[in-house]
Amino acid sequence: MATVLAIHAHPDDLDILAGGTLAFLSATGHRVVMATATAGEGGSAETSPQETARIRLAEAAASAAQIKAEHRCLGFPDLGVFNDDPSRRAVTELIREVAPDIVITGSPVDYHPDHEAISLLVRDACFAAPVANYKTGSAGALAGIPVLYFTDPIGGRDRDGTRVPREFGVDIGRHYAAKRAMVAEHRSQVAWVARQHGIADFMADMDAWTRRVGADFGVTYAEGFRQYRHPPYSREASLQHYLGATLINP
Ligand SMILES: [Zn+2]
Repeated sequence: MATVLAIHAHPDDLDILAGGTLAFLSATGHRVVMATATAGEGGSAETSPQETARIRLAEAAASAAQIKAEHRCLGFPDLGVFNDDPSRRAVTELIREVAPDIVITGSPVDYHPDHEAISLLVRDACFAAPVANYKTGSAGALAGIPVLYFTDPIGGRDRDGTRVPREFGVDIGRHYAAKRAMVAEHRSQVAWVARQHGIADFMADMDAWTRRVGADFGVTYAEGFRQYRHPPYSREASLQHYLGATLINP
């Protein structure tokens, strides 16, 4: 069984982009750790940053608990995730501590600066994790670079509106109920996305997105990924292997 560490920027990003896949992996016996870069304290017009962070961390923990995953938060500021030295060391320390076989993070191009920054941080922290002389805290260096994957960007497109190519899909039909249950834990986001993003129904928007990815792959509900293979990153198709019959090659 593998250890899978999924890291994205804010408490609902992983749920929307990879929740069904993480539910499948957990249900099939893998250890799944869901980490966010920030507590998402910017995501409210009604509560203070401190109160919003408390609410959203509790929601993220409840979402992870829905699929028996572990939950972590790196504690970076919302709208303050940067690809700098202390942040890369913090992400590397998390990766070393969890010691994953597989790492999943966001797309390097996306609509939100925190999404792009955490993707770059995770990519580079995976590279740094086995470098023993790169000091990050108490966790020891890994034996090798974990196998790395990117989710789709939010909406599947870059900032110019061009579709970001994905490599394979995951048929999450059997785990869609779990994905819905995860997303439903993010109660505070219903009002926020209506105000900030003009999305009247948070759950319906997630449903439409997951159906759209499914339609691209000829199934009802799917999530899309691509593997990062630039040497010396691993070219081993670990996640594809564990996905079994849920793997959809285009
Ligand atoms: Zn986000």
